[in-house]
Amino acid sequence: MRFYKTILLPLLALAQFALGAEDYYKILGLNRDATDKQIKSAYRQLSKKYHPDKNPGDPSAHEKFVQVSEAYEALSDPESRQIYDQFGHEGLKQRKQGNGFQHHDPFDLFSRFFGGGGHFNTHPGQRRGPNIEVKVSVSLKDFYNGGTTEFTWDKQEICEHCAGTGAADKVVHTCPSCGGKGVKMVRSQFAPGMFTQVQMQCDACGGRGKTIAKRCPVCHGDRVVRKATPVTVQVERGMGDGTRVVYENEADASPDWVAGDLIVTLVEKEPELEEGARPEERVDGVFFRRRGDDLFWTEVLSLREALLGDWSRNITHLDGHVVRLGRKRGQVVQPGHVDTIPGEGMPVWHEDGDSVYHKTEYGNLYVEYVVVLPDQMESGMEKDLWAVFEKWRAKKGVNLHKDSGRPEYIVTGERPPVHEEL
Ligand SMILES: [Zn+2]
Ligand SMILES: [Zn+2]
Repeated sequence: MRFYKTILLPLLALAQFALGAEDYYKILGLNRDATDKQIKSAYRQLSKKYHPDKNPGDPSAHEKFVQVSEAYEALSDPESRQIYDQFGHEGLKQRKQGNGFQHHDPFDLFSRFFGGGGHFNTHPGQRRGPNIEVKVSVSLKDFYNGGTTEFTWDKQEICEHCAGTGAADKVVHTCPSCGGKGVKMVRSQFAPGMFTQVQMQCDACGGRGKTIAKRCPVCHGDRVVRKATPVTVQVERGMGDGTRVVYENEADASPDWVAGDLIVTLVEKEPELEEGARPEERVDGVFFRRRGDDLFWTEVLSLREALLGDWSRNITHLDGHVVRLGRKRGQVVQPGHVDTIPGEGMPVWHEDGDSVYHKTEYGNLYVEYVVVLPDQMESGMEKDLWAVFEKWRAKKGVNLHKDSGRPEYIVTGERPPVHEEL
């Protein structure tokens, strides 16, 4: 027993040491093989979530915000990531001591992603950039099944090369001409011998109050660059046509403002037949129409089917499952009749998405029947049919006109139109 104790104690001490600083990948919620893109995207999401402006009076959120920023700094630089992967926190610590490297202020890092001064516009004087509206087409099939769709747009981002300073050396100087005010007082003569002080924009710095020695070669001093930026949109089952998905602070960024929101509107796409698809594979909603949570379908019946029954149809639904329609022999379908099939409409959207805690409900499917009468018949068939109707008319005729109780002749004395008899 004693032996175990002595071994166990140093082991525990080691484990504690390792737990002292949390794993950077874990903080960002990533695996060790995460791509640069995933690291960036995790930082964007988590830094917004834990930003102190969004969690006032919550010291644990503030701590998280700092951790996320540290983790991003360590993993976004290939060299420091490699050191971290190999030697962990201790390795990075030694490297920093070696070259006098200091952690960046987490708010500075935040402002390099979202612009402004690293804060949301809860701070007075903080400007907010414009929102951007984008429309994305989504097929009915994707609204039914859920899925993701991606689009790319030219987003303005803060230049990474100069960290949004516009300067090749990332150093911004106070304008020596105006002393940083951006304006100068100029003496101007408005009448002979009479002068006044006029405030003019400083021409040396263009009113910014700041100058740089050499322009950044990437953004040419603009401080921002446009980049093709892919956005992945999650389409949840049953989302409505016209649903707006808001990506907070993901619109154009600028050092002068806090980025506005990117607002994506999902619009139902006109259905199209998939190229080369067999009829049974055409499940993209060509023949389905949607209204709210309900679906509509039109089914065509022949005269024989409508009149005598004994038919069936298989409708391939939007997820490929089959809905069977049909009538037994002797069951008549009137033209324009509508069958209501409960549970075969659209899934009803739920804010929690798909979850084991609630059952997905569905709207109705409405099937409307159209009856097509043959406009040409083989003469033999026509004769047979005629004979059948003649036989039964003679036996048990029904005169629709007579049974309606209307007068035989109308007032003008003309013969009334001939009424169909069966
Ligand atoms: Zn100036
Ligand atoms: Zn630049």
